[in-house]
Amino acid sequence: MEFDLISRIRQRAASRGDVVLGIGDDAALLQPTPGMQLAVSMDTLNSGVHFPETTAPADIGWKALAVNLSDLAAMGASPAWCTLSLSLPSPDAAFVDGFLDGFLALAQQHDVALVGGDTTRGPLSVCVAVHGLVAGGQALRRDGAREGDEVWVTGTLGDAAAALDAMLAGAVSDRALRARLDRPTPRVEAGRALVGLAHACIDVSDGLLADLGHVCSASGVGARIELDALPASPSLARFAAPVRRPWQAGGGDDYELCFTAPPAARDAVAEALEAVAVRASRIGTITAGSGVVAIDAQGKPWQPPRRGFAHFA
Ligand code: ADP
Ligand code: MG
Repeated sequence: MEFDLISRIRQRAASRGDVVLGIGDDAALLQPTPGMQLAVSMDTLNSGVHFPETTAPADIGWKALAVNLSDLAAMGASPAWCTLSLSLPSPDAAFVDGFLDGFLALAQQHDVALVGGDTTRGPLSVCVAVHGLVAGGQALRRDGAREGDEVWVTGTLGDAAAALDAMLAGAVSDRALRARLDRPTPRVEAGRALVGLAHACIDVSDGLLADLGHVCSASGVGARIELDALPASPSLARFAAPVRRPWQAGGGDDYELCFTAPPAARDAVAEALEAVAVRASRIGTITAGSGVVAIDAQGKPWQPPRRGFAHFA
């Protein structure tokens, strides 16, 4: 039965030129491009913790890969290969088929080959590892922010958190908001475009303030964010600023990139992201000291009612 599931997966997984041997042997054989460094990342999604139990299998598949690709994007790496560990309560072929619909659609978009994995029985849980390539020494790290850098964010913030809150409250959320929660867009092209321009980068998975805080502590700097500069989608902009702000500043699951770059690179950054059709907003500056301060329209420090997503809350 597990072998039946594995053969379903094997039949549908696409390959690429640098895969010497994919699914089917004891290990995959991969041929990295000379001169490139391997960027390796892994994320687990547990049912009821990282996605609601009612999530459609295709959305689980999409999100399991998307959150991993987002980590590679934040490093400026090009995704190449992935492995998939699936824990399933029963050998449910319909679930696997649906899961693969979402997972492989995203894999195809980014030319990522599924080269192996593991299939076991247990509570529903999905663990994906991704491997990407980035030119030696060029990766975008968390520890490169410098005083005077401008802080930027791609896309818009807060949609996923707004959809999650609506769902937890038993309300029906706007379709566009819900799509951001279920089918996040990893900013792979944007990350690649920022190589050589950005000093530091992180993906916004736990909330802007929390994630920018990681950049600041790794870099030994502080940051000042203008709340009014945080970008909102048309759906989110319908909420009044005091309602929307906690989602934008503190809500997780957006998978946008937050990065810093020197003011002299401002035009180059704008052009690089325009070339990959990704919106980018300047939202603040890197300061001496430590910690992230969010400033409201009156110039006063603002305290978020909720800071980041507590994974085990
Ligand atoms: P082994 O006992 O050697 O670990 P498995 O029966 O677990 O072998 O897996 C057989 C092959 O199928 C291996 O190449 C493995 O990488 C692949 N595989 C197993 N599960 C998955 C999965 N969920 N996704 C992709 N490949 C998988
Ligand atoms: Mg195995």
